[in-house]
Amino acid sequence: MPSPESFPRIAVALGFSTPEKLLEHARREVVSGETFLEFRLDCLDEPEQGVGVIRGLLAAYPDATILATCRRHQNHGRFNGSVEEQIRILDAAVAAGSRAIDIEIETAEAATTKLELFRGRARLLLSYHNYEGTPALETVLRRMLRVPADAYKVVTTARKPSDNLRVLALARAHPRVPLMALAMGEIGFPSRVLSPVFGGLYTYAAPSAAEGTAAGQVSARQLRHLYRTEKLSRDARVYGVIADPVRHSISPAVHNRAFQARRMDAVYLPFLVQPAQLKDFMTMAESLPVAGFSVTIPHKQKIVRYLDIVEPLARRIGAVNTVWRRAGKWRGANTDAPGITVPLSKHLRLARASILVVGNGGAARSAAFALADAGATLAITGRNPDRVRALAKACGAEPVLRDQAAVRTFDALVHATSLGMCPNVNEIFFPERIPASVVFDMVYNPLDTLLIRRAREQGAEVVQGIEMFLEQATRQFEIWTGDSAPRAAMQKAALEALAGSGEPIMNSK
Ligand code: NAP
Repeated sequence: MPSPESFPRIAVALGFSTPEKLLEHARREVVSGETFLEFRLDCLDEPEQGVGVIRGLLAAYPDATILATCRRHQNHGRFNGSVEEQIRILDAAVAAGSRAIDIEIETAEAATTKLELFRGRARLLLSYHNYEGTPALETVLRRMLRVPADAYKVVTTARKPSDNLRVLALARAHPRVPLMALAMGEIGFPSRVLSPVFGGLYTYAAPSAAEGTAAGQVSARQLRHLYRTEKLSRDARVYGVIADPVRHSISPAVHNRAFQARRMDAVYLPFLVQPAQLKDFMTMAESLPVAGFSVTIPHKQKIVRYLDIVEPLARRIGAVNTVWRRAGKWRGANTDAPGITVPLSKHLRLARASILVVGNGGAARSAAFALADAGATLAITGRNPDRVRALAKACGAEPVLRDQAAVRTFDALVHATSLGMCPNVNEIFFPERIPASVVFDMVYNPLDTLLIRRAREQGAEVVQGIEMFLEQATRQFEIWTGDSAPRAAMQKAALEALAGSGEPIMNSK
């Protein structure tokens, strides 16, 4: 009987209401190469029927490792029977070939002597689940270790970024305890990827063709091929993006592909950081440690106060989108700025150009300062004249109302509002003529926005937002790694992610 240490690093959790569905999804996973499946028998309308499924699956695929569990509703499962009935079902699951069973600590404490039934027949995993938060984990582990078992599983809910660090630190602090520790929820997603890296026995994935059994799960394919959970070493460098929301970011697809292309022992994670949690994230980033990260809405301005060194252009813009640590100091830069000037300068000489910036948010600010630095003659427009005037004053540009701008002709227009972005694809700032010969739309989802299509029809040259995205992303890669960025691989990953060939980033329920 294999020890828990020799189990595969990824378990696919299967919870379905009928035995047919459970078997169908289990088969699908095994056929696609998965060998470690958790059967949530309590999710079946009749949990006993899972025993037949175990037998049927193992008859066809004897190498599969099945971990059976039948969690009681008192412990957030769906099984309504007694502890005795729960043990009876798990006993039948072991007789059918389950190599391991998971029993909640609450049941184990109530029926310690009955656990003897499994000795020598299956590996016993004791589990602790907390759906409210992440309590003092040493206390939890002490409680669990009082009941002898082959392995222990601590699953909490992340309420703030540093909860990731706390669950991961638990596994690292107890290298002799066979332990699986992670935090559920979107905030806890990094712990799912990093759990095996920090010494955890394995991590959980959702089935590839159905919802997972817990919030924050992604498919085994994503864990293996996008985040490369199994390949990362203990010393892997951790990068990521901080945002709220973060789930639709294409940056994990792009940067992980880049690390893979350069064969780097590094991973890039989506960190959900709510506006009030930036300080907590920085505390976590210091200790995890995080080597560098991208910053996006709503943190680009506020991050500046947590940095030791900020590059001059970023300081003038007042926004940082790239952070990294060198010699113990947090440093910040703004790669959105070259993301605008580099693609645009392929179409015209910036120093001689008259350029209209549309918008007055963070991205418009980056454009305005970068283009002013490059010597362009700038005008700024937007829907809020007061904010437009304030930005224009800050960077020496001319504030113009939309109607005034509409009747002029600029060499280039840089669109920096969210108009036209999915799902509002029919929105456009200039509904009639677009007043420029080169039109740059920062919006990249969809690739061909209404603005880009109209500009083409009008005979203008166009710059798609994806060019900016790639420029800023490749510069981030170079800052972080000191290596040249694999641009073609990054572009392919970005286009695939935008085309939706990627899966949603995680299960949120
Ligand atoms: P932001 O700070 O939230 O600013 C949004 C801007 O859009 C503000 O000026 C806002 O005007 C304006 N706006 C929103 N709705 C509008 C409407 N209905 N009519 C007119 N103006 C409207 O966001 P941001 O960071 O600057 O980003 C702006 C856009 O650039 C987003 O679509 C973002 O995805 C894109 N972007 C792309 C890249 C890239 O790599 N391609 C990089 C950064 C940003 P008010 O101030 O009046 O509210």
